[in-house]
Amino acid sequence: MACDVLVIGAGITGIYQLHRAREAGFDVQLLEAGNGVGGTWYWNRYPGARFDSESYTYAYLFSPELFAEWEWQEHFAEQPETERYLNHVVDRFDLRRHIRFGEKVTSAEWDEASATWTVRTAGGAEHRARFVVAATGIFSVPYFPDVPGREDFRGESFHTASWPTTPVAFDGKRVAVIGTGSSGVQLIPAIAGQVESLTVYQRTPNWCTPLNNGPITAAEQAQLRADFEVMQATLNTSSHGFLHQPHDRATFDDSRDERWAFYEKMWNSPGFTKLTSNYTDLLLDPAANAEWCAFIAEKIRGIVDDPATAEQLIPRDHRFGEKRPPFVTGYYEAYNNPNVSLVDLQRTPIVRLTEDGIETADGVGRRFDIVVWATGFDFGTGALLRMGIRGRDGLALTDHWADGPRTFLGVQTAGFPNLFFPGGPHAAAGNNPRYNGDQVDFVTDALTYARDHGCDTIGATAEAEERWTAMVDKGAAMAPSFGECSYYFGTNIPGKPRKYLLNSGGRPKLFKEIARVLDTDYAAFTLSRSG
Ligand code: NAP
Repeated sequence: MACDVLVIGAGITGIYQLHRAREAGFDVQLLEAGNGVGGTWYWNRYPGARFDSESYTYAYLFSPELFAEWEWQEHFAEQPETERYLNHVVDRFDLRRHIRFGEKVTSAEWDEASATWTVRTAGGAEHRARFVVAATGIFSVPYFPDVPGREDFRGESFHTASWPTTPVAFDGKRVAVIGTGSSGVQLIPAIAGQVESLTVYQRTPNWCTPLNNGPITAAEQAQLRADFEVMQATLNTSSHGFLHQPHDRATFDDSRDERWAFYEKMWNSPGFTKLTSNYTDLLLDPAANAEWCAFIAEKIRGIVDDPATAEQLIPRDHRFGEKRPPFVTGYYEAYNNPNVSLVDLQRTPIVRLTEDGIETADGVGRRFDIVVWATGFDFGTGALLRMGIRGRDGLALTDHWADGPRTFLGVQTAGFPNLFFPGGPHAAAGNNPRYNGDQVDFVTDALTYARDHGCDTIGATAEAEERWTAMVDKGAAMAPSFGECSYYFGTNIPGKPRKYLLNSGGRPKLFKEIARVLDTDYAAFTLSRSG
C-alpha cells in the first residue's frame, strides 16, 4: 500500500491525526496493532479503568456538533464509555475505512532517493508513505519486572495495560495485584468485593485522593452544551488543559484551621483540582507540601480500620505531585474488607513466583489463581524505540536516542525527515489530549506548508532539536517538584537512561515555540524537493 501520510496508532492522537490530515486533502492510511480503536483506552480495559480528567475536557473539541451529540454519562467516564465514544468518532467522520487493524509495525526505514518511508508489519505487509506520523503514545508498552519465576506461574496472569477483550472471571478467585500506581489503585476496589481473597503487593504507596466522580445530570448536560465555546477557548489555552482555576493564596497565608477547611474542600473536589487549584506554593515549598500530605495522612488513618495497614499506605519517600498522583474511588476503604490484605514489599520483597503463587523474603508463600501485574509502562519512548526506525544514512533511532530522547517540539527528531510523533516524549504535561491535539494541529500545518511550497521533505534541524532538548533537560533539573524515582525520568525501567520524558516547559513553551516556527517561516526545519 502507498499513501501520502501513514499514521501509526488508533488512539486519541492517531484518530485525530487521521481526521486532520484527511481534511487537509492528504491520502491517509492508519495502521493499528490492536483489533479496535482506542489505543491506551483499548488495551487498558481492566475493571475500574476510567478517566481522571473530566470526560468533556478529555474529549475532542474540534467539532461543536460532535460535542453536542455525545452525552457523557459520568464526569469521569469508565473505559467502555470511552471506547464507545472513540468508535463513534471514527464512524461519524468516516475514518474506519482508512484504518487497518492487527498491523503491528516492526520496521520503518527512510529512503533518501525516493523521499519515502517503507514501513513493515509483523504480518509481512509493506507500506510506503511520504510522511509517517507515529501516534504510538507514551503509555503503550507494558512493563513486566524481571521477577524470578514469572513464567512458572500456572494460574492466570494479566497486565493491566494489555487486558483481554473477553471478561476475566474474578468471582471466588484468590487474586494477587502487584503494583499500586494509578492502574492498580483503580483495579483494587473494583474487584475487592468479587474475589475470594485479594492480596496487594505494594512497593511504594502513592498519595491517593478521591476522584469524586458522579453521573452528569440533565441540567449539567444542558450547561455543558451552552458553555461549549467558552469551555473550548479555556481548554485550548489553559496551561494544563483543564477547566480548573488556580487558587490565589499560599499555604501559610492561612491559619491552620483555615488550611484544614480548605484542604477538606480540595479533598471533596473533582480529580486534578488537588493539583491545579491547591495552594499556589504546593509544588514549590516543601513545608507547604508537607502540610497537605499531613492532611492526607490523617484521612488515610481515619478511613483504614487497621492502624498498621494505614501506616503502610502512607507515602514516606516522596511529596504530593512528585509522582503522578492517582485519583481514587473507594481505594483506602477496600482495605477494610476482611478478604483484602496488603504486603509491604519494602519489608518483605518478592523473592520469586512459583507454579501456584508468590513467595516473599520472609519465607511466606501465598497461593493464587490470578496474578495481575499493575506494574506500569516503558513510558514515553517505549513504543518508538521498538519500531525498528531508521532515518537518514541508516541511523537507528535506538542509537540516536541511546542517551534519552532528543526532539524538537516533541514532534520530530533530527536525521529522521518526514517522521512525526505527536503525543510522544517531550510533548507537555497535563490533560494529554489537549497538548497532543496541539501537536497534531502543528503537524498538519507543517505537512500542508511543505506541500504548498512544493517540498517533499521536512525535517527539524539539529540546532532546533538541541534547543528544545536542552530546554526540557534544564527545566527538569531545576524543578524541585519532579520526582527522582518515577517513570517521568524512565527510572522505573532498569537500565533506561535517566532523562526527563515530558516537557518541563509545559504547554506554554509548546505554544511559544510553535508561534516562533510560524513567525520565522519554518526556520527550525529544513525543507527540500527530492529528485
Ligand atoms: P505506574 O504508575 O508506573 O505504577 C506501577 C506500579 O508497579 C508502582 O506501584 C510500582 O512500584 C510497581 N512496581 C514496578 N515494578 C515493581 C516490582 N519489581 N515489584 C513490585 N512492584 C513494582 O503505572 P500505572 O499504575 O499503570 O500508571 C501509569 C500512568 O498511567 C499513571 O501515572 C497515569 O498517568 C496513567 N493512568 C491513568 C489512569 C487514569 O485515571 N486516567 C489510570 C491508570 C493509569 P514503585 O512505585 O515502587 O516503582
